[in-house]
Amino acid sequence: MDELKARILAEGQVISNGVLKVDHFLNHQIDPKLMQKIGQAFADRFKESDITKIITVESSGIAPAVMTGLYLQVPVIFARKKRSLTLSSGGLETEVFSYTKHEKNHVFLADGMLTAKDHVLIIDDFLAKGEAALGLTRLINQAGAYLSGIGIVIEKSFQEGRKKLEELGCPICSLARIASLEHGKVTFLEDIREGTH
Ligand code: 5GP
Repeated sequence: MDELKARILAEGQVISNGVLKVDHFLNHQIDPKLMQKIGQAFADRFKESDITKIITVESSGIAPAVMTGLYLQVPVIFARKKRSLTLSSGGLETEVFSYTKHEKNHVFLADGMLTAKDHVLIIDDFLAKGEAALGLTRLINQAGAYLSGIGIVIEKSFQEGRKKLEELGCPICSLARIASLEHGKVTFLEDIREGTH
């Protein structure tokens, strides 16, 4: 997605350890117009997949997931990182290692949010080692629902997440695929393949 790639180049900041900061449009301040186009792009890719629900993890996955849900006209669920008064017990639960916080979190879904009839699309902001998306697939499996696809806004293709998710055998759509963040410079996978690097 060219506009997303242009925004990453213009506003992204490479932090040490292969982390990209895009706090001006995705992870802190959100650009609704860009999110709308992201939602449209995912919806175009998955419109034939009979999706009945979208799932993400709070909080940065919510904006792209909601926009995708708007275009596909399906509800969006986000797995919670903390139990709350309205989700004090029961439900579905799994452990996810947080890439950016370097800690294990439990994520939760209330009973009935997903059913065995659901065809589910996972949406997330970043793909690094695949832990968040794999955690969501475990919740989908616990509910007996069907995993229809995975949509990632920014994939760091130099990390192992993509390979792990490919083993699930469902379609994966990443809107920007980063081949390298070396020396503070963002290089996209397509640029290497097309020889424009
Ligand atoms: P994974 O679970 O695939 O290892 O990492 C994905 C999750 O970690 C995403 O939900 C995202 O919140 C966070 N994350 C991973 N890499 C980055 C990054 O380079 N930048 C930002 N802002 N978040 C990241």
